[in-house]
Amino acid sequence: TFVANAHKGMVMPMTEATEYIAKVAADLERRDPNQPEFQEAVHNFLGTITPVFEKHPEYIKANVLARITEPERVIQFQVPWQDDAGKLQINRGFRVQFNSAIGPYKGGLRFHPSVNLSIIKFLGFEQIFKNSLTGLPIGGGKGGSDFTSKGKSDAEIMRFCQSFMIELQKHIGLDLDVPAGDIGVGGREIGYLYGMYKRLRGSERGILTGKGLSYGGSLARTEATGYGLLYYTNAMLKENGQEIAGKRAVVSGAGNVATYAIQKAEELGVKVLTASDSNGYVYDENGIDVAVLKDVKEVRRARLTEYAKAVPTAEYHEGSVWDADIKYDLALPCATQNEINADQAAKFKAAGVIAIAEGANMPSTPDAIASYKENGILYGPAKAANAGGVAVSALEMSQNSRRLSDSFTTVDGELKEIMENLFANSVAAAKEYGVAGDYLAGSNIAGFTKVADAMTAQGW
Ligand code: GLU
Repeated sequence: TFVANAHKGMVMPMTEATEYIAKVAADLERRDPNQPEFQEAVHNFLGTITPVFEKHPEYIKANVLARITEPERVIQFQVPWQDDAGKLQINRGFRVQFNSAIGPYKGGLRFHPSVNLSIIKFLGFEQIFKNSLTGLPIGGGKGGSDFTSKGKSDAEIMRFCQSFMIELQKHIGLDLDVPAGDIGVGGREIGYLYGMYKRLRGSERGILTGKGLSYGGSLARTEATGYGLLYYTNAMLKENGQEIAGKRAVVSGAGNVATYAIQKAEELGVKVLTASDSNGYVYDENGIDVAVLKDVKEVRRARLTEYAKAVPTAEYHEGSVWDADIKYDLALPCATQNEINADQAAKFKAAGVIAIAEGANMPSTPDAIASYKENGILYGPAKAANAGGVAVSALEMSQNSRRLSDSFTTVDGELKEIMENLFANSVAAAKEYGVAGDYLAGSNIAGFTKVADAMTAQGW
């Protein structure tokens, strides 16, 4: 309903471009009526893309929109594994190879009970534009499973990863598809996945990214998404005459993205007041202590209640951090999709929020995005703001091909440059297409036109 309604409700003259977009939207809705997250991601994209088709009728001729919204390949498979009690468990595995116009499919694997085809398709679709925005030669893909490492023994996680890779290895390749991590897939899971790949196919280091440093990983990959988010936020504030130092931020999440976002924010002089998990959040008026957060989440793999026990000034609250009554300037959602709804977004202005930049993928509902716009809140969309992770993944692939490792300073410097360039490109694209200041439109347009040009040039 999202997509069709968006276009039905629009008060604008029907042109060849708007008719074309509405038709693709209606076709998709007919085809995938039960994929709400995928429809939502497409809706957020189509709502901004009309000016491109007004200017480029050749994209309509090449039917680029119908092709880019349909995955090139969808793989679904069974993942059998034995638990510690000796019982055979079955999970569902996915790999969606969405678009390869500008490079091999690239994107993470998510292990979470909520994973289904709609979630993987929304993530894969977003990944096309995100990867294009990095300026590096990578196409869009995503995969995962409804498995969760939570509550499993190390041996169970290893057996699951091994079984997952026994099937996945048939579908990936250095110039075909290169997975990495996402929610629920960190260094430990990548290690087990890589170990099995190596036994089956040999030592092809670039087959996965986010690897450990001892076997081909890149320095600064762990930090990349969070650091990149702050480089992006800093660029967005600067463009609007604001200084990042001295700002107060609310961060959601306590995983890899949130942790390094908090670290970089504090380095830049921001006071980060919160971190959250799926049960609740910690609030610390003195600023979140990253060393304690890392110890609780990465070393002990414990809940955030443990953080509150370790830091006397911290308070633990149940519920969503976006319902908290806090005064702050920067909203940095780093948890998961649709974590901020319209009601929560509507409270941002009164809380003092001037900017939101998304570390998670699609953390704002469409109504929340509309609310940012109405209230004049600067909005850095995920596909741009969190592109730092996949950007450094592409740098890891490049280091693996060269059989060399770059220093932390080199990779971090490249990351910063990539984030600043992609922000500048989005600003320029928005200006060129008559929607200056709209960074969602600018990111969609800049990401899309490169892919559309490649698709058009390569023929049907
Ligand atoms: N999962 C991350 C993302 O959403 C990183 C993907 C990658 O490094 O390939 O972009």
